[in-house]
Amino acid sequence: MKISFHGAAGCVTGSNYLVETDKCRFLVDCGMFQGSKTLKEHNYRKFAYDPASIDFVLVTHAHIDHTGLLPKLVKHGFKGPIYATEPTVDLLRHLLPDSAHIQEIEVFQKNHRNERKGLPPIEPIYQEEDATKAIALLKGLKRYESFVPAEGCKVTYHNAGHVLGSSFIEIILEEAGETRKIVFSGDIGEDDHPIVHDPDRIKETDFLVVESTYGNRNREEVSKEQRLARLAEVFKDAEKRGGKIIIPAFALERTQDLLHDILILKERNAISDIQVVVDSPLANAITKVFVKYPESYDEDASEIMSKMGNLFDHSDFRFTSSAEDSKALNNESNIVIMSASGMCDAGRIKHHLKHNLWNPANTVVFVGYQAEGTLGRLITQGAKTVRIHGEEVSVGAKIEQIHGYSGHADQNGLLKWLSSLKEVRREVFVVHGEPDAAEEFVNQLTEKCGFVAYAPRMNEEFDLLSVAEAPVAAVKPVVVVQKPEAGVDSYNLYADLMLKLAEFMRKNKDEAQRREKLGKILSQF
Ligand SMILES: [Zn+2]
Ligand SMILES: [Zn+2]
Repeated sequence: MKISFHGAAGCVTGSNYLVETDKCRFLVDCGMFQGSKTLKEHNYRKFAYDPASIDFVLVTHAHIDHTGLLPKLVKHGFKGPIYATEPTVDLLRHLLPDSAHIQEIEVFQKNHRNERKGLPPIEPIYQEEDATKAIALLKGLKRYESFVPAEGCKVTYHNAGHVLGSSFIEIILEEAGETRKIVFSGDIGEDDHPIVHDPDRIKETDFLVVESTYGNRNREEVSKEQRLARLAEVFKDAEKRGGKIIIPAFALERTQDLLHDILILKERNAISDIQVVVDSPLANAITKVFVKYPESYDEDASEIMSKMGNLFDHSDFRFTSSAEDSKALNNESNIVIMSASGMCDAGRIKHHLKHNLWNPANTVVFVGYQAEGTLGRLITQGAKTVRIHGEEVSVGAKIEQIHGYSGHADQNGLLKWLSSLKEVRREVFVVHGEPDAAEEFVNQLTEKCGFVAYAPRMNEEFDLLSVAEAPVAAVKPVVVVQKPEAGVDSYNLYADLMLKLAEFMRKNKDEAQRREKLGKILSQF
């Protein structure tokens, strides 16, 4: 009985765990590596196992960092069922083809550059037909209804409160007369998150594989009412200045969370009848999936729905589809434009920023974490000029940030979730975090909870039957994981340098000083 870690080990993305017994081999999640170019390189490498040898896959939730390599798995020979909750299956019908499409475009652009450099073309990781094949293997299931996908393996899904359909998975494995329980947390949400129910709790297990995105950080605590008050304040201030409100938002969950909150404010007459436009075909499709599963809504969402009829169908809400509709928004004023991606590194949001960022009458509202190296991070850090589609754009709009929408529990939230867990008989594996976060969370689990905890490295394997019961197991020393490939890479530094150089040339007109500085930089090559 073995487990090995093939993603989200030493980094946040690429969740992919292989579990093997003498009777079956299966994966929990098969996610894409996202972030820096170095990290993305992993997506092009061969799997560490033969995809054809895998019996089935269990998916925790629809996010691409947990599902984005399913089409690659299928492309390389996997033919078994892919289990996920029914909402997750519906979400993946949109997210996987979208992911394939993004890659086809990326590879097309890359090959265009390679051709000019005389380099051979590269192949996309997968294409839309592979996504279609993966979708055909999806099997929808209901939470709390245990099932047996293979002999000696019993699986139950529980609510993880992270995004629509998200789950943590409880698995009971049998081998040679021995039984082990293993729980995969997937991504754990914060209590009081809009729309989705608070995460369920667990009481006991042999092994726990837990995320640590915020394993070393606590965010400022923001109650639901504080979040709503802040949103109303930002809207009112923006309307006074007469411009547009641009909100970069992820297509899944964040867009719907915002519509939910805006609807509450409209029902309370706390904001005007300003038009809200969702300008993202993917967000529109995903919103329809939300409409299909009202039983997934928590009390607040059910209450506002009963008062207003539908969470997403309001006379002030509009959903654009065509590129022409999107372009036409350039000529409108006094509207809210919500568009993806949430970190402004792709999608229609880049066009809206290009057209609106310069104007001091406009407001750009950030409602989520902005990863290092993204356009969103540059803007929130106070950059005066940014590059969008190769053009320099000055940042004149008012930049606002609203906290309280994070889909991930912070360190306190994770510990709160774990407080109901009275017994981990063997070991906790800490995954899905930057090395600093995972390491700090290992310390917290060891010191505060008394668990044996460890942050596995990429491709590390453990024999689950030979891990002794915790009281007799020596607490493993905290392993200092090597510095990650994540975060800022050379391409981010290159982009930064280009911006700084352009700014220097613009501001400094003294030819001698220009020559001196540029000469110094050049002499290093
Ligand atoms: Zn997630
Ligand atoms: Zn994740």
